[in-house]
Amino acid sequence: MEYKVRFVNYSGHYQKYRDEFLQTIDDVLSRGDLVLRRDVEEFEQKIASLVATRYAVALNSGTDALFFSLKAAGIGPGDEVITVAHTFVASVAVIVHCGSTPILVDVGEDFLMDMEKVEEAITPRTKAIMPVHLNGRVCEMDRLMSIAQNRHLFIIEDAAQALGAEFQGRKAGSFGRAAGFSLYPAKVLGTFGDGGVMTTNDERIAEKVRLLRDHGQKTKTELLGYGFNSRLDNLQAAILNVKLKYFPGWIQRRREIAGLYYTGLSGISQIQLPPRSDETHLDVYQNYVLRVERRDELFSYLKEKGVETLMKDPIALHHHSSLGLSHFSLPYTEQLAKEVISLPCYPELSNEEAEYVIQAVKSFYV
Ligand SMILES: *Cc1c(COP(=O)(O)O)cnc(C)c1O
Repeated sequence: MEYKVRFVNYSGHYQKYRDEFLQTIDDVLSRGDLVLRRDVEEFEQKIASLVATRYAVALNSGTDALFFSLKAAGIGPGDEVITVAHTFVASVAVIVHCGSTPILVDVGEDFLMDMEKVEEAITPRTKAIMPVHLNGRVCEMDRLMSIAQNRHLFIIEDAAQALGAEFQGRKAGSFGRAAGFSLYPAKVLGTFGDGGVMTTNDERIAEKVRLLRDHGQKTKTELLGYGFNSRLDNLQAAILNVKLKYFPGWIQRRREIAGLYYTGLSGISQIQLPPRSDETHLDVYQNYVLRVERRDELFSYLKEKGVETLMKDPIALHHHSSLGLSHFSLPYTEQLAKEVISLPCYPELSNEEAEYVIQAVKSFYV
């Protein structure tokens, strides 16, 4: 069907920067720089400087950025890693792929890891904690870092949705031992396909992740172990380098759109708006997520009105029987699965479109 307002607008995004993208593609292909060339290195330097970490390693997905971060930090069989169920399945999958045990805790009002619950979940087997900075908002990291320090645990941040977000003036991805970002097209910074990047201040972790992404090859002639093939395409890196020039403006625009939603949708008793940026949080609004009454009906109603929204997790992650996580009981996460809906929020969205979304939501309830 033809939507009036789409949930993402990939072609609009492409058209806006088309000339610059095509010029870049032509430049890279003419140079013949395809695999791990200077554009990847340049991208890694730019990300390290944006996140304010010593190292960044470009990979072929956010999932591998998290998986390799855990592996490089020594997570393996017998270890427990604490994370949340109110997240994308990848956060939990990477723990399982390390042969370790995911321990899921509930989230709070802000959709983020409840630190009280983290403390309760720690056992002698706990090795690491993976906070998820969902929707582009950083978890309560001061509290989590003091918990981790006291209990000698380390933190791997799932910053897949939070490039550029800040907590107490520090960037997402700079708090833990390592962090993983996703460069999936719909993320705040996206490739034209798949991509990811990990950040760390630890030289040994950076080095291990570089080996893991390229079959353990230190050089063409020296192998330092078994690895994977998880390189970010040099062509994608070159395009990302173009996009990074516009990135601060895109974050600004996402925050403006969020501002329109906060104003336009306030005072409706059936809607709970997401937490706002304040002195401690600078949010990047990867998603603008409402908690609403009669969510499924609203979703269909908006679709009829030509507004595409996302109802991503109608079934709580731990309730998918195929994942073997049904022994967890997470009341708040389960409640959210019935109530959350994401509105269109991306730099190319116009004020008129945002206004149309607001009027459509309002007309359902008021
Ligand atoms: C997107 C995402 C991932 C996975 O990233 P990919 O690039 O799709 O592999 C992991 N965690 C969260 C919270 C995500 O949103």
